[in-house]
Amino acid sequence: MLQVIGDPIAHSKSPIIQTTMLDYLGLDIPYTPHLVKKGDVAQYLAFAAANQVTGFNSTMPHKEDLVPLMDELGEEVQRYGAVNTVCLRDGKWVGHNTDGDGCLESLVYSGMWPARQVVLLGAGGAARAVALRLAQAGAERIWVCNRTLSKAQQLCQLDPTGVLAPAGFDLDTLARLCSQSQLVINCTNLGMNDCPHQFEDFSFLDVLPRDAGVMDLIYYPAQTQLLQQAQARGLNTCNGLPMLVYQAIFSLEYFLNRSLPRGELAKAVFARLAQV
Ligand code: NAP
Repeated sequence: MLQVIGDPIAHSKSPIIQTTMLDYLGLDIPYTPHLVKKGDVAQYLAFAAANQVTGFNSTMPHKEDLVPLMDELGEEVQRYGAVNTVCLRDGKWVGHNTDGDGCLESLVYSGMWPARQVVLLGAGGAARAVALRLAQAGAERIWVCNRTLSKAQQLCQLDPTGVLAPAGFDLDTLARLCSQSQLVINCTNLGMNDCPHQFEDFSFLDVLPRDAGVMDLIYYPAQTQLLQQAQARGLNTCNGLPMLVYQAIFSLEYFLNRSLPRGELAKAVFARLAQV
């Protein structure tokens, strides 16, 4: 059995995404949501071991808490400091993080990668995985723009490549950096339903080159103000849904311990999600 744990968990799209892929592959493996409260992940590992759970995904608030509980860690977890995929291998819990790979793959899928200079908004958990993965994937400069500058500085210190540089979140800074960039990625909560207004004005998008891309990690709502404004300017846009789908595909590859037909699986999942 496979599971996803978190709190809240009822809203998670992981069961429908993973079940669609397992069905597509003809595999009769149940994948179910499981509510686990903050602080209860060690207890959950005991439950999982006793109940034939061979792998699980983790979402808020457990991604960091799982790191010290793993028997082994993928090299990316050692950089990102967070686990979203756990597999049982020879009786050992092995932790991985597929957010960075999922984001990179969705940028490729959307025709936004490669990009040399990137403006990345935010310095939280998602920003950390995305920034470090894109630095490793060959970006020349990634400006990590955050409201709390000290958090951007901390994130950049994790980067061994020297590609990441901290920056402010004010409109003047964003305009200056966008004039030198080909890609903007929103990794903040700004634009989610409980925080719908993203920016006072979007003129920083005016200075991007015409073939620039704008990605928002948010997928609900499907079109944030940032994406609407970028689209109105004729820029290439992508919401967070492809990242969600691709990180799930990479998770399933870890669960099954083999590579999978990613394009076919993504197509099947997008078709299924369009029906719900
Ligand atoms: P997080 O760790 O809590 O980080 C939140 C970030 O948003 C921080 O940089 C924070 O800045 C910034 N922020 C929050 N409110 C702000 C405001 N009013 N003004 C300016 N900045 C603000 O959250 P996370 O886990 O990184 O998630 C961030 C977003 O990514 C969420 O919308 C989440 O749903 C999305 N996400 C999507 C996927 C996907 O697969 N598509 C995967 C993971 C996450 P400060 O440091 O200044 O507080």
